Amino acid sequence: MKILIMTDMEGISGVVVWEQVMGGKPMYEEGRRLYTEEINAAVRGAKAAGATEIVVVDCHGAGEGWTFNSLIPELLDPNCEWVAHHPWSRYTELLEQGCDAALFVGMHARANTPDGVMCHTISSTTWRNLWFNEDLVGETGINAALCGHYGCPVLLVTGDEATCREAKEILGKDLPTVAVKRGLSRYSARQIPPVRARKMIEEGARQALELKPDVQPYVPAKPTTITVELSTVDTAANFQGRHGVEFIDPLKLVSKGEDWMEAWNQIWSWKT
Ligand SMILES: [Zn+2]
Repeated sequence: MKILIMTDMEGISGVVVWEQVMGGKPMYEEGRRLYTEEINAAVRGAKAAGATEIVVVDCHGAGEGWTFNSLIPELLDPNCEWVAHHPWSRYTELLEQGCDAALFVGMHARANTPDGVMCHTISSTTWRNLWFNEDLVGETGINAALCGHYGCPVLLVTGDEATCREAKEILGKDLPTVAVKRGLSRYSARQIPPVRARKMIEEGARQALELKPDVQPYVPAKPTTITVELSTVDTAANFQGRHGVEFIDPLKLVSKGEDWMEAWNQIWSWKT
């Protein structure tokens, strides 16, 4: 059984402010330790359920050389391998080979979610809203669509309560989730301590992979329209003149493709 674990840092227990997720800040060292140990919990759960190949992909942009490179190598569970510093949402090797399930750990809610701790969609300064056809999505939706393109279901999402709610909206009510905190605002939360949160995640991963709940791969209807609402007019330049991309007002663009991947490729670059 091949398992892909896609991870982010904002949805980890104990992490509530940018200083804990930005490389070079003193608090970042605490954040990355909490991050690594919560990933290890999911690896243990996957292993206990019978996974034979577990690949962890660090999807957190911590800045500079820390971007997609926040996990502490020597603390990582030896039962996994991990992908560091690869362009965001572009690691597809395992999916191409035929991946049985994906687990998303430490996710945060999409932009403009009042109880979403550090909520944003890709970039807190560039993207305001993102839709796949009629679905308003955040990063959980993007990564689920990437997995769905290859027929791989997402069987666990962890993060704060807002993230879990958002994930069920996209992937269905049967999706197993583990909420490790409840956002009280964008930068505060009532939390479950890491030691207990890790047990919940380990158990959640094991159960999800053993019981295989009825969660279908997320495949937006074809042809697919992706709509992006930008935060500021100057960021529009990044998307102007691209094949398949059309502006419908100064801050809103649409990308149309035969399927989700074609529409996504027209707007999402390979740069880190
Ligand atoms: Zn992140």
